[in-house]
Amino acid sequence: MKLTPYGGIDEIGGNCFLLEEENASILLDFGRSFKNEGIYYAGYLQPRTSQGLTDFLEFNILPKMNGLYSDDFNVSFPGDIKNIHGCFLSHAHMDHYGNIHLLSEDIPVYMGETAKTILTSVQETSRPRFGRPFIRPPSDNTSSNVRTFRTGDTIQISGLTITPVHVDHSIPGAYGFIIEDRKEDLVIGYSGDVRLHGWRKDLTTDFINIAKKKGVKILLMEGTNVDEDFELNEPQVQQDVSETIQMTEGLAIANYTLRDIDRFRSFYFAATKNSRKLMINLKQAHLLKLLQKDVHLDIPSFEDPNIEVYQRPKGRYYRWEQEIINDPSITIIDNPNFAQEEYIFHCDFWNLTDLIDIKPKSATYFYSHGDPFSEEGLIDYKRMMEWVEAFKLDFHQFHASGHAPRKDLKHIVEEIAPEILIPIHSEHPEKYKDIVDIPLILPSRGRSLYLGQ
Ligand SMILES: [Zn+2]
Ligand SMILES: [Zn+2]
Repeated sequence: MKLTPYGGIDEIGGNCFLLEEENASILLDFGRSFKNEGIYYAGYLQPRTSQGLTDFLEFNILPKMNGLYSDDFNVSFPGDIKNIHGCFLSHAHMDHYGNIHLLSEDIPVYMGETAKTILTSVQETSRPRFGRPFIRPPSDNTSSNVRTFRTGDTIQISGLTITPVHVDHSIPGAYGFIIEDRKEDLVIGYSGDVRLHGWRKDLTTDFINIAKKKGVKILLMEGTNVDEDFELNEPQVQQDVSETIQMTEGLAIANYTLRDIDRFRSFYFAATKNSRKLMINLKQAHLLKLLQKDVHLDIPSFEDPNIEVYQRPKGRYYRWEQEIINDPSITIIDNPNFAQEEYIFHCDFWNLTDLIDIKPKSATYFYSHGDPFSEEGLIDYKRMMEWVEAFKLDFHQFHASGHAPRKDLKHIVEEIAPEILIPIHSEHPEKYKDIVDIPLILPSRGRSLYLGQ
């Protein structure tokens, strides 16, 4: 078996790993590398999508592989054409799925049902790069590019058996994979992004147990927080928010990631505990409406009197916004003069102007993200703090990472006990040697490793 990393090495995200055996090749994730893009492009200096993939290939932001891309891009490189039999998506974060819409029409993309739902909402509420959808509907001459799975399914691709197993992460429908090559008696584990401190740590425990049972020999393991320990967990975030709201006289304002449903739940619980309602925006309402159809996810319905949706005033609404506004089951608030003490108001960075209409009084502002880590992120953060000051908001930061801290990474790896560990999705992959006594391989981007016999 041959493993070639094309991304997710020495960086947090941009995951893209090619696994090849004699008769089958699969990709594990095909995400956007914000690190490599950010070296050359930022702000108004963006790759020209009118030039196809040129501006990406110039700086090796995308891998140069024949057979990988749709014919629409008309690209070819030296070397043979690779026949890729499937791309396996771990979860619906852009650093894992962000390039799947560039793939050749011949390559099916395997993803969890929930990831498909989330990507459907993403492409209906925003315009993907190149105007190409992530989920391609079937047409007269092509089938859809997507095949879905659930935990318990196995997928057979020639000599490879791929078993997806759910994990706990900051977005629902996240998976790790166990890949078995019986001919070479080789079992590979791929963690995706993982933690043990969300509302559903039992999911990650399932992954650990199945990986152990199947005898994973080589583990590709994320290491976002390999150099960091913390005790913060999602139930604690909920409790801290709840206690702070008890002391809030006016509006509670919450800035959290729209697709982090665990965090949505934390604010929703904090709202109901304090006899408040959670007011979300149209985009989150669109996502929740789709996710509500899946009983496994146990998403509160719009019949729930504790959830309302804010319709910010503007000239024209997109069709998807109009559909939410016209949905009779959804309580829409279109007047900014609501009773502020009765609400937690979801307001992310892009909707700060809502505060101009709402005029918050005696309000608390919950910044529910990690500290900014990029130059641009820091500039946005400073700008946000100007708004906090201008409206005299009582500022609090409560957040639990989407990724396991060092002690939990150690626990996961030691439980699975592989023969070889390949750290991925980390700025400091070498730091794994300080926490586990298992031989490491630190691969380079674009360089193949031969695993097994
Ligand atoms: Zn990631
Ligand atoms: Zn992720």
